[in-house]
Amino acid sequence: MPQQKAVIIGAGIAGIATAIRLAVKGYAVEVYEANSYPGGKLAEFEQNNYRFDAGPSLFTMPHYVDELFKLAGKNPADHFGYQKLDVVCRYFYEDGTRLDAYADSQKFAQELALKTGEPVAATLKHLANSRDIYSITNHVFLERSLHRLKTFLRWDTIRSIFRFPQIDPFRTMHKANAAGFKDARVVQFFDRYATYNGSDPYQAPATLNVIPHLEHHFGAYFPDGGMYSITQSLVKLAEELGVQFRYNYKVEEIVVINGIAKGIRAKGENILADVVVSNMDVWFTYKRLLSKHPQLHPKKILSQERSSSALIFYWGIKKQFTGLDLHNIFFSADYKAEFDHIWKQQDIYHNPTVYLNISSKYKTDDAPQGCENWFVMINVPANNGQDWDKLIAAARKNILAKLSRLLGEDIGKLIESETILDPRSIESKTSSYKGSIYGTSSNNQFAAFLRHANRSSKVKGLYFCGGSVHPGGGIPLCLLSAKITADMIK
Ligand code: FAD
Repeated sequence: MPQQKAVIIGAGIAGIATAIRLAVKGYAVEVYEANSYPGGKLAEFEQNNYRFDAGPSLFTMPHYVDELFKLAGKNPADHFGYQKLDVVCRYFYEDGTRLDAYADSQKFAQELALKTGEPVAATLKHLANSRDIYSITNHVFLERSLHRLKTFLRWDTIRSIFRFPQIDPFRTMHKANAAGFKDARVVQFFDRYATYNGSDPYQAPATLNVIPHLEHHFGAYFPDGGMYSITQSLVKLAEELGVQFRYNYKVEEIVVINGIAKGIRAKGENILADVVVSNMDVWFTYKRLLSKHPQLHPKKILSQERSSSALIFYWGIKKQFTGLDLHNIFFSADYKAEFDHIWKQQDIYHNPTVYLNISSKYKTDDAPQGCENWFVMINVPANNGQDWDKLIAAARKNILAKLSRLLGEDIGKLIESETILDPRSIESKTSSYKGSIYGTSSNNQFAAFLRHANRSSKVKGLYFCGGSVHPGGGIPLCLLSAKITADMIK
């Protein structure tokens, strides 16, 4: 048999992982990437001697990265190192409450009891529920295609279907949390997990209460070389397996003849392949690369609500703060109002929840001595043509006032360098429709079923991976999408 060839459009984390899996299967793999660097959202940059991870900062489920090294017959620890966090995140409330979210469930439940008075038993019950939802959903919704009959004929799927009411799909996450806890701060704490896939706790189903299990069972981690080392180590692995990466190569078209994907067109040249995998956002894949074939466009899927986006200030700060950790959250006083602004008014609440990540706490060379690299992020709506310059100027002022108030220091005076990323630049740098950071939103109970499949039902040889298709956004799910996609390719 002559060697089969696969081309992958995009070197995002899912594109790289799919390349590794297909190379291990014996394919000749070429990855075409529009940017001059790999990683897509999982990128890095430097400014004034500060290094920043551009996108993801929270690393969970590292075993999905390890799995790729094992698949290639290598010992993961020799190629990619990381450490488990004792405290996943430090929380600051407007009323002065400060609490540490320990990865260990018992320790965490005790911390909540000490700081908020919430009984230990209530937290442990919630985490047990989270574990149960995970055990029901992971095989069905996360690890397999929802678009193959085979999935539904499996015994564990059938068992999960019988346990369906247990995943709590018919009330909102907030309703479930408000029913389970007495203290409003604890409700807000658990509501926040909806933002892990860009959704709204006041609309998203309580099934998303599965997410705390990831942190309090599997844990959260910091890669020794920073988040970008995930991209770097996987690109190196792919190259060792013979994968060819072509940067500054913007794909213009997927060549389809008689319902079969024959390859791609880039830089005016046709590149033939037996298999085409798009890691580009599925919306742009259809609108830009398959624009000649409107009859192939899945209109309902493409019209779905997108996840929220993000506004990030990367600040070089000429001071170190001992009271801050790697991950820090400064909650807003009125969470409902904040989400109404994101989802209804489509603008930015004046007192938003601020996420502050400081990788130099663990990787000290990420900032000059005595300084810290601050990644300051708030959740914002997807790009619908808002006046972003005006919104960003107001948000910057409000964030500075909030952090200065809660940290007792004029933060504005400590900023010695600044870069800003907003929904428009997220859209243009990674071709993510509307700058949404997790593909489609999970604001309704059918979202998992409505995501685009990992294979085209109309074009033979065309596959999809990444955050805009099944099973969704975030590094672990993108790695799972690569697994599902590669498993489908014979
Ligand atoms: P993407 O990263 O979207 O990359 C797609 C690639 O395709 C890009 O490199 C793009 O240039 C390329 N491309 C597009 N069009 C073309 C074309 N025509 N030709 C060639 N190449 C093309 N996840 C977490 O797990 N934890 C977090 O803490 C977290 N925080 C986040 C914070 C931010 C600010 C952002 C933006 C995302 C965050 N995420 C987080 C989500 C996570 O980053 C994404 O879900 C994941 O990285 C998406 O990977 P992907 O494989 O879908 O590809």
